[in-house]
Amino acid sequence: MNTIFDLPQHLTIHLATEPNPATPKIRLMIAPEKPAVNMPNKSVGDILYTDNQVIVSLGDSANKISAETFRKAGGSLAKWLVQHNVAEINLYPDEISSYQIPNAIPAFYEGLLLGAFQFERYKKIEASVTPVQVWVHAQPNEQTSAQEQIERSSRLCAAVNLARDWAHEPANVINPITLAERAQLLAERYGLRCTVLTDKELEDMGAGAIVAVGKGSQTPSRLIILEYPGKNPPADAQPIVLVGKALTFDTGGYSIKTTEGIVGMKYDKCGGITVLATLMAAAELGLSQPIVGIIGAAENMISAQAYRPDDILRSLSGKTIEVISTDAEGRLVLADALTYAQKNFKPRAIIDLATLTGGVLVALGRVRAGLMSNNDELAQALYAAGQSTHERLWRLPLDEEFAQLIKSDDADIKNSGGREGHCILGGTFLKHFVEDTTPWAHLDIAGVADSPKESAYCPKGATGFGVRLLIQYLETL
Ligand code: MN
Ligand code: ZN
Repeated sequence: MNTIFDLPQHLTIHLATEPNPATPKIRLMIAPEKPAVNMPNKSVGDILYTDNQVIVSLGDSANKISAETFRKAGGSLAKWLVQHNVAEINLYPDEISSYQIPNAIPAFYEGLLLGAFQFERYKKIEASVTPVQVWVHAQPNEQTSAQEQIERSSRLCAAVNLARDWAHEPANVINPITLAERAQLLAERYGLRCTVLTDKELEDMGAGAIVAVGKGSQTPSRLIILEYPGKNPPADAQPIVLVGKALTFDTGGYSIKTTEGIVGMKYDKCGGITVLATLMAAAELGLSQPIVGIIGAAENMISAQAYRPDDILRSLSGKTIEVISTDAEGRLVLADALTYAQKNFKPRAIIDLATLTGGVLVALGRVRAGLMSNNDELAQALYAAGQSTHERLWRLPLDEEFAQLIKSDDADIKNSGGREGHCILGGTFLKHFVEDTTPWAHLDIAGVADSPKESAYCPKGATGFGVRLLIQYLETL
């Protein structure tokens, strides 16, 4: 593990070309209601090893299973295989397709590949872990499609796992400058165009909001722009612009966070990291849609140079913003990034991702991300993509009344309007910086970008939320 792109490969999936009968085999079974001999228990992902077979439970009823059941089963299995030092295992895809659930096979692969991820860059690895090789035994007439499926899942999950790995990196490793360097390396590696605007360039341009947020830091703000041209797009193709919030650390500034509230603020960069990883996946998968990624990177710190409550900032749009809370900094960074997107590209749509508010956690917990939009068609397409990848969204309203709550006495708008409708006020603020004619959606991922406990196919910490969802959406265009 030497470079920022080298992740531990605990599990890989390959197409089998020869039979290997001595290798154990994966079975997937519906468990009986009451525990039975040689059957797994009824919780999804429960595992029983017997007779050279690793039997994974799909729950207690065929009526309840979905693609997500297979994702979870794959995740639990991956962890079990890694823990038990299993070097090789056979998978017969018929074992999955017999359940006749759409997309169950790629979901199972995703579970395997995502479930095997661990962030261990800073840990001394005690024993050498044997990487698990999963051999897929497809029917002779299905070899080509099986190979495609394996490759697609592997490329997609590599991007999700990279997002998790980078998100886990602490603020003494990733700051706005080193994040921009990583973006440049990623662009070189995947054939993307990359532009990095420094704080000086941003200031000269008039982007006073993103610059102000980074003033207190020794590593000032950067705006990172990545361009993926699309594979054989029509000549007049307009890009989808993905905008990401990357606060590499958020102390809250002078509106400082509490001792408890500040822990985990390295994850305040997850929106931007998701955008980087989505561009990587788009290039790897050869998507036809042109895509632009714009990442607003800043570190919200306290110093003699830091911005203050009461400051009035002039944003790139020309609109002025009164700072009520220096902890509502994400929307300031995004305001300038959204304006930059509209000034420099003709977006077919803009989608922003941000760990924006604690309010979304109150509203939707860690189950769904908040979705706000000025366009029903875009909102519905994103909602549907989230349902299919199980990165679920829930739409919140942007009624006119909310805008009243962030009217400022001394400027065009203020950056905080109190607790009522907290999450929606974040979206309402951003809407102020988007033309009505540009389809736009805002995903508040503060509740789902990282998790305090592990789940079937995600360890504790960064989840990589949004990469699969965005790719699913982009592929349907
Ligand atoms: Mn904040
Ligand atoms: Zn923040």
